[in-house]
Amino acid sequence: MLKQYLLTPGPTPIPPQIALKEALPVIHHRTSEFASIYKDVAEGLKYVFQTRNEVYVLACSGTGAMEMAIVNLLSPNDKILVASCGNFGERWAKIAQSYGVETIYVSVEWGKVLDPLEIEKTLKKNPDIKAVFTTFVETSTGVASDIKSIGKIVSQTNAVFVVDAISGLAGQEFRTDDWEVDVVISASQKDFMLPPGLAFIMFSQKTQKLIELSRLPKFYFDIKKYRDFYLINQTPFTSPVTLIVALQEALKLIRNKKIENIWNDCKRLARAARAGMQSLGLKLFAEVPCEVVTTASVPENIGEKIITTLKERYSVSIAGGQGKLNGKIIRLAHMGYIGKVDLLAGFACLEIVLSELGMDIEKGKSVAAVQKEFLG
Ligand code: PMP
Repeated sequence: MLKQYLLTPGPTPIPPQIALKEALPVIHHRTSEFASIYKDVAEGLKYVFQTRNEVYVLACSGTGAMEMAIVNLLSPNDKILVASCGNFGERWAKIAQSYGVETIYVSVEWGKVLDPLEIEKTLKKNPDIKAVFTTFVETSTGVASDIKSIGKIVSQTNAVFVVDAISGLAGQEFRTDDWEVDVVISASQKDFMLPPGLAFIMFSQKTQKLIELSRLPKFYFDIKKYRDFYLINQTPFTSPVTLIVALQEALKLIRNKKIENIWNDCKRLARAARAGMQSLGLKLFAEVPCEVVTTASVPENIGEKIITTLKERYSVSIAGGQGKLNGKIIRLAHMGYIGKVDLLAGFACLEIVLSELGMDIEKGKSVAAVQKEFLG
């Protein structure tokens, strides 16, 4: 049996301490035993989100939390601004439009970064915009948005600021309260080092007025239910207890390590991954690269083959491009439990595969480039 190397931007590998917690016998969710775990988890999430507000745990993937943000803040025909630089930015608009919400776009070509001034101009032109939606780390392109600057702009208006931090939160510096973000969502399968299945969502005080006025239909994702049960350290519906017990362990590991140290580690891994790609002659794809996934352009005739060959021959999983980037880029993650040795192994195998697929690759070059960053 081949050892699996998961270098994809979600799901990501699970540390054994966390996996062992998942194997514990299932407990009932309406017990004091569960409530004390949930209370601890709620505190840990506040730390990771860098917020004083409540963070709710949902049994769904990240997209469920995106939908929860929309249905709790808006009413039919409300106007919102979606600031998008890729596939997941566009998802905000798709969800909003499916509920009859009017969407104004600020968008850039995939791979480029959003200009906060464009958002400011659009907000000035449309003072009736209720909320601004964007993405922290656009996983489809590897670009990180300037959430701090956008937060400053939106905070000076009546609109609320909603950020999809499904990628990046707990990997790259993100300060919810300091950056004046009103709704932050994330999910378990990336920097949290857990399997897919949980999403997290936080609402600020500024959102309260919109929540009261909101008339979009909701039942499972009605924030009021989550708030009521939060008071008794529970979730409104049957809790995914196994994942929440594992989440407690993940948060313990994060708290013990300290979030700033995790941000620094990811920065270093990102520098190494970028150096590795460039040493192979691959052009970095992201105009402003994030610190949790590195993207690079590859020759289109071998784009998909790189991914399948790495997986079939070496059990190394990296990701290809999504949508219109399919076959054109590769995406190699360095988030969560992915560490230095994984990157060295990943690049060593990538070199072989690129060379087998006809690229002129000097063996060992990317491994040396990665090593240099680790030593420097
Ligand atoms: N937004 C971003 C930035 C993501 O990376 C992803 C998942 N790759 C999603 C949204 C969607 O999350 P999920 O697949 O968990 O619903």
